Amino acid sequence: MKKTMKIRLYPTRAQEKQFYEFCNTARFIYNESLSYSIKYYETNKKYPSTQCLINHVKDLKYNKYSWILQTPEAVTKQSIRDLKDALTKFFNKTSKFPKYKKKSRAKLSFYQRTDSFHQIDCNHIKITGIKSPVKIKNNNIPNHVYNTRVSYDGKYWYLTISYDVECLNKNTNDKVIGIDLGIKETITTSDGIYFKNINKINKVVKLEKRKKRLQRRLSNKYEINKQGKTFIKTSNIIKLEKNIKLIDRKLTNIRNTYRHTITKRIVEQEPRTIIVEDLNISGMLKNKYLSDSIRKQGFNDIISKLKYKCKLYGIELKIADRFYPSSKKCSNCGHIKKDLKLSDRTYNCDYCGISINRDYNAALNLKQYLT
Ligand SMILES: [Zn+2]
Repeated sequence: MKKTMKIRLYPTRAQEKQFYEFCNTARFIYNESLSYSIKYYETNKKYPSTQCLINHVKDLKYNKYSWILQTPEAVTKQSIRDLKDALTKFFNKTSKFPKYKKKSRAKLSFYQRTDSFHQIDCNHIKITGIKSPVKIKNNNIPNHVYNTRVSYDGKYWYLTISYDVECLNKNTNDKVIGIDLGIKETITTSDGIYFKNINKINKVVKLEKRKKRLQRRLSNKYEINKQGKTFIKTSNIIKLEKNIKLIDRKLTNIRNTYRHTITKRIVEQEPRTIIVEDLNISGMLKNKYLSDSIRKQGFNDIISKLKYKCKLYGIELKIADRFYPSSKKCSNCGHIKKDLKLSDRTYNCDYCGISINRDYNAALNLKQYLT
């Protein structure tokens, strides 16, 4: 199965300048290919083939924009392939029609050819189009890698690679773990383990507050510098925007690391089966009071991380039916409490008299889902 690895790069100023150039060319070619495809469709009633787009880019390169030549061909070809993939997703109805990549919004990244890409020693790698080796820190890159890309997250440059790993297929024990996902506690397991909501810890709350403050200051600055219908970007505005991006980056990293940690803690118990509820996430997001906290919890990401880790460990992951009453059912006697409110933190059973934490009750019910 596929595993991804992210390696921090330490480019020199000159190398970084080239990285930026490659990213901008990659974005330019993507946008050019998109607009060409749209025009082509208008006259031919079909989209151009990959080869047709390659020829179009060649034409641009030799007759119009010679600066494209400074970027390796593998990078520009990949931009065409990326656009073709986006169009395929649109035809398969799994995605909307591709959009132009705006300079201010698009993620800075460019493709790396895997066949000419190699590690020189544990502290240096060769990157296509960059003459001198790029510094890394004591890393060993696996032999057969694919889908390699260089990207920038607003602070550091990374090389992302994919490679195949064998499933670990651990000797799982007979244990079954039920998992409840929630707002108060991110995860409650049927073992009675609670994983707190990372968004409530001091560090995250403070970062969110700082972000809000900067965003307010930014919109004020935009108001002040408004000229008619256009906004003037002052150096102060650019600085503020950069700071907001850096806070966002920090928050993303904290949340992502946390989701890795908690899902790892669960699969490391090597149970036979893990059962999780089927969350109607898009439905939940419509609730305007909860949508923000749900989005920050990243339930979709938790489930996809669980899926991946379960596969790696050879653990069965079951998703309980959406209509399974994991919250309303009493885990002790099976009685269904119809009038359970979202605010009820404790489950009090009218039938057997048990009083139990609401999320723990749900986790226990999920554990019993199979039987
Ligand atoms: Zn009961």
